[in-house]
Amino acid sequence: MSTETFEFQVEARQLLQLMIHSVYSNKDVFLRELVSNASDALDKLRLAKLRDDTLDADVSDPHIELETDPDARTLTVRDNGIGMSYDEVGELIGTIANSGTAQFLKELKEAQDAEEEGLIGQFGVGFYSGFMVADEVTLLTRKAGEKQGTRWSSRGEGTYTLERVDDAPQGTSVVLHLKPADPDNQLHDYTAVWKLKEIVKRYSDFITWPIRLVGEKGDDGKAAEPETLNSMKALWARPRDEVSEDEYHELYKHIGHDWREPLETIQLHAEGTFEYQALLFVPSHAPHDLFRQNMRHGLQLYVKRVFIMDDCEALLPSYLRFVKGVVDAQDLSLNVSREILQQDRHIRMMQRRLTKKVLSSVKSMMTRDADKYATFWREFGAVLKEGLVTDPDNRDALLAVASFASTHEDGDAVTLKQYVERLPEGQDDIYYITGESREAIDNSPHMEAFRERGIEVLLLTDPVDEVWVDAVGEFEGKRLRSVAKGEIDLDAREDDKSEDEQKQQAEAYAGLLGWMRERLDDDVKEVRLSTRLTRSPACLVADADDLTPALENMYRAMGQEVPHSKRVLELNPDHALVKGLNEAYTEREDRSELADTAELLYALAVVAEGGRPKDPARFVRLTADRLERTL
Ligand code: ADP
Repeated sequence: MSTETFEFQVEARQLLQLMIHSVYSNKDVFLRELVSNASDALDKLRLAKLRDDTLDADVSDPHIELETDPDARTLTVRDNGIGMSYDEVGELIGTIANSGTAQFLKELKEAQDAEEEGLIGQFGVGFYSGFMVADEVTLLTRKAGEKQGTRWSSRGEGTYTLERVDDAPQGTSVVLHLKPADPDNQLHDYTAVWKLKEIVKRYSDFITWPIRLVGEKGDDGKAAEPETLNSMKALWARPRDEVSEDEYHELYKHIGHDWREPLETIQLHAEGTFEYQALLFVPSHAPHDLFRQNMRHGLQLYVKRVFIMDDCEALLPSYLRFVKGVVDAQDLSLNVSREILQQDRHIRMMQRRLTKKVLSSVKSMMTRDADKYATFWREFGAVLKEGLVTDPDNRDALLAVASFASTHEDGDAVTLKQYVERLPEGQDDIYYITGESREAIDNSPHMEAFRERGIEVLLLTDPVDEVWVDAVGEFEGKRLRSVAKGEIDLDAREDDKSEDEQKQQAEAYAGLLGWMRERLDDDVKEVRLSTRLTRSPACLVADADDLTPALENMYRAMGQEVPHSKRVLELNPDHALVKGLNEAYTEREDRSELADTAELLYALAVVAEGGRPKDPARFVRLTADRLERTL
């Protein structure tokens, strides 16, 4: 059979270089990765056979085998799992399909000193980690049900070879041609039996398939009985005090495809008529695809210790899609399909219970460990807030663990409860402002009067914020109110205008306001004097039940038709520009000039809230024209 040579995809090559130049201080983990892949392959084979009884595959003794040859200096990791086809080997091993890894490479390039910052060692690199300990890796595989196998081989230097083989056993074996041991650099002798035992015990003990060490041949030429190295005990079924944190973390790394420790481990044993155990993990970092439509998520589902499926989405609501873990149920059918799961009464019951458990864990994290909670909320707060809209049953629990940036906090966040507790006498509303970033918000004209009076305003910058505030409406009897919506009726202060003064002002401006409303009819439904502006000449506000521009854009982005909602233009009667405009309006007969100025004033209000004038070129022309006259 002919051997063909291929080049690694660019990212794959970069990753290999990292491996070869040994960026991980702890090289032992290569074995964890290979065993993890082998275990997945056995799971997949079992499922494939379950789905298709006629599949021509041997499933009588699924296992993982380690075999060493100290003379040839090789270590072989073998499984009789699903295997890979010729095309799959090229696709899966020659490229980096895992976008998390691509992201890792990007971060690595951006980091000054990746090693120092501990970036490396945070990402799983799977199969390639073999190149940390080997200068050549050969993989022989045959896919279950296929006749022909494939041999893949590489020295990790930019190319690999592929060859079709006729006599490959079903499954996959990976042969590592080991580098010379170099204990100073944590490169151990991986043909040493004690070392392999130690690594398996440490990283892979919970793997549900036997990991056997194939005995060396004795003097009589016969191999000793293979020894099983792992206990295969399901961690989730063991009492918590018998399992070390380390053991939990290794399980997390296996199922979460993450090399970092989880932030939180959550265990649940449900007894009664429907028994199940769950072991859940909150990762310490949000995955990069958390907000992508096709993000893979969900828990692993086991039935009586037997793996049934990955990514079982029905077990948790979508706003907890970052949670990883295992659920092992006693009384589900082994043949459950995804379709059935969605409607299954027991699954729904489990979902409810697991959701409550996660939320109560976050709650206790909040009181127990403020730093940990802060990390949690930074990474996952934006997702959790989706639940405020989609899960009314748990709304209170969600509100209890939600926190927000505020004008009255520097770096810390405040909960609604804290906000309400420190409400000054007479204030009945919880004020918030939405926007793209804290900077944009801080300088928003809508904030002026609030800042001046020292009123606390929550600063909401996640896209979902626009939605949940409407859905939730109030907290402990206090209304949630946008500073950019409706008429603001702040408490009177000493230097405020008297009622008489206000009345006079209203009369003085009545003509201008009416005239401007007509001029700006396309975009504005009302022009009125503002109580919220102190420094800016104008701002735009929505009516309490109007869509905000951000929401409008969001719906349009989702392909929904939404009418352009007109807003209210508020003018600051104490601003020189507005005063001048009013004088000119009362004095002049010809108002064509003024019409342009009115239009500009509107455009300035749009720009001030981060928007874009409708006709930017015209906006610039009008502005330039007026600037010129000041010179
Ligand atoms: P990951 O395991 O994170 O997906 P790897 O580089 O370790 O990344 O493996 C890439 C893919 O190659 C796996 O997702 C799997 O489809 C396939 N693969 C790796 N090892 C095996 C194996 N022993 N048997 C079958 N398929 C495997």
